[in-house]
Amino acid sequence: MSFSNDGPVHPQQPATRLVTAGRDTEAQKGFVNPPVVHGSTVLYPTADDLHAHRGEYQYGRHGTPTTRALQDVLIALEGPQCAGVGLAPSGLAAISTALLSVLKAGDHLLVCDNVYRPSRNFCNGMLARYGVETTYFDPLTGAGVDALFKPNTRAVLVEAPGSQSFEMPDIPAIAAAARAHGALVIDDNTWATPLYHRSLEQGVDISIQAATKYIGGHSDIMFGTISANAKAWPLLAEGIRLLGVCAGPDDVYLALRGIRTLSVRLAQHYHSGLEIARWLQARPEVARVLHPALDSDPGHAIWKRDFTGASGLFSIVLKPAPQKAVDALLDTVKLFGMGYSWGGFESLIIPFDCGEYRTATKWAPGGPALRLHIGLESIDDLKADLDRGFAALEAAM
Ligand SMILES: *Cc1c(COP(=O)(O)O)cnc(C)c1O
Repeated sequence: MSFSNDGPVHPQQPATRLVTAGRDTEAQKGFVNPPVVHGSTVLYPTADDLHAHRGEYQYGRHGTPTTRALQDVLIALEGPQCAGVGLAPSGLAAISTALLSVLKAGDHLLVCDNVYRPSRNFCNGMLARYGVETTYFDPLTGAGVDALFKPNTRAVLVEAPGSQSFEMPDIPAIAAAARAHGALVIDDNTWATPLYHRSLEQGVDISIQAATKYIGGHSDIMFGTISANAKAWPLLAEGIRLLGVCAGPDDVYLALRGIRTLSVRLAQHYHSGLEIARWLQARPEVARVLHPALDSDPGHAIWKRDFTGASGLFSIVLKPAPQKAVDALLDTVKLFGMGYSWGGFESLIIPFDCGEYRTATKWAPGGPALRLHIGLESIDDLKADLDRGFAALEAAM
């Protein structure tokens, strides 16, 4: 039996790899997609096989044909630097698993001040309890991070751009400093995905996806992925095995289903997001738009050098306005739902204040800040919705 579209050699372009990788049509009797394998026990045909742990699959937690298909797509997407991919039940679990896998008591960790707040909570809570010390650093430090390394600094956690404030750290410079000090770099690459930011090719050792966001893409799963290079993969694989981290089969399948259309969805989020960001820049109510793909953004040069696209998530700072006026805007917009998370098909809006948690840098934007996720709705409808929101804001001033 022979089918087109599968085989060990993946074509070069990422958009093609997203479609062709992880397909074993023959094993699936011609079906394009793998089954959702609900499985714990794997039976061994002979005592000899059992003693030798022989066979492609040994136990549900260690992998199934469904997890293998998703891992193969992620490996193909990350590129030749990727030595292995772990799957986790949430993005935060992916981050905590990566940190626990590479750190031990007595180690020091450097964390960029703009990372996802629950990542900080994990460092300040559990890692502190297990004897790991964390130092936060200015996202704009770049090569200056070199001065912060101690003899026991084992890892650096970064996020580019930070998913509320959108400052753009210089990952290649941070990675070069980390390499010189023998530390590993962990990058929360959720915003750009490996499609638009090739972390592992820029010196990052472990690249994380909160796959709850763009990989899933439909606001219907919690999921995380951890991709590692050859240097970090043995530690990570051991950590995953010792911790017992695995993901449920239906969620694995939905992540696989989502990733097949990542390139078209992300291209639309990028296009719509940038158009609405530009439109917002021209609004009298808006003081600043925080979006690294805008020419005017302080992180634009780094974005242009290190990224090939942007997603649909960015923030705005309004001119000073009372809380009740901002709430009037939030209560008036209808296509923009109020809710956490992002990366699904739908538009979202939330107010935020990084000043509540940042420690290495000051957050003083000069007005109320809102984060927007631009979904797949018509751009004209989204503008009209925001127009109504701004009218309500003005009326409540
Ligand atoms: C949402 C998010 C996470 C956590 O993912 P969950 O699946 O919600 O646990 C981590 N990092 C970033 C940047 C996120 O936006």
